[in-house]
Amino acid sequence: MGNCIENHHSGGFGSSGSTGGDGVRRVKRKLTLIVIHCTATRSNIDFTHTDLLRVHRARGMRCIGYHFYIRKDGYIHSTRPLEMVGAHARGYNAESIGIAYEGGLSPLGVPTDTRTQKQKYSLRALVRTLKKDYGIGRVCGHRDLSPDRNGNGVVEQIEWLKQCPCFDVARDEWCS
Ligand SMILES: [Zn+2]
Repeated sequence: MGNCIENHHSGGFGSSGSTGGDGVRRVKRKLTLIVIHCTATRSNIDFTHTDLLRVHRARGMRCIGYHFYIRKDGYIHSTRPLEMVGAHARGYNAESIGIAYEGGLSPLGVPTDTRTQKQKYSLRALVRTLKKDYGIGRVCGHRDLSPDRNGNGVVEQIEWLKQCPCFDVARDEWCS
């Protein structure tokens, strides 16, 4: 399985796997879904990928549960190899890719679409690339998955499950 942090995809987003005759890349598991998350941290604080790793390790995970992490400055960290099943959406991990952005709460702690322009740009570029490269048809927010199967394998605050990722994924531009 190798390391879980950084530089798994040295050729760019999701460069893992072989490319079939139809031009679609394949990894050793079937990919049908992209799930968007937020870290549910306040927009006025910095939450680095190292912070995220620490939190997920404290929950018993070996590495970050999401495959990609997008900072407020738009930087995209590759945090888990695509070949590896994620730990971010219970019942949906096997065939999905998990992406989280830094933020999701206002400075007062209210669930809000806190994405910066750079985060929006990076998220769209990443989602579009992954959809195209891996032939993935569906993109949704964590909260769009059925409540009884929701979760990321750990106990979370009810509010987080309800709100994550704090914006309406179905209305974003990648669906057009
Ligand atoms: Zn989530």
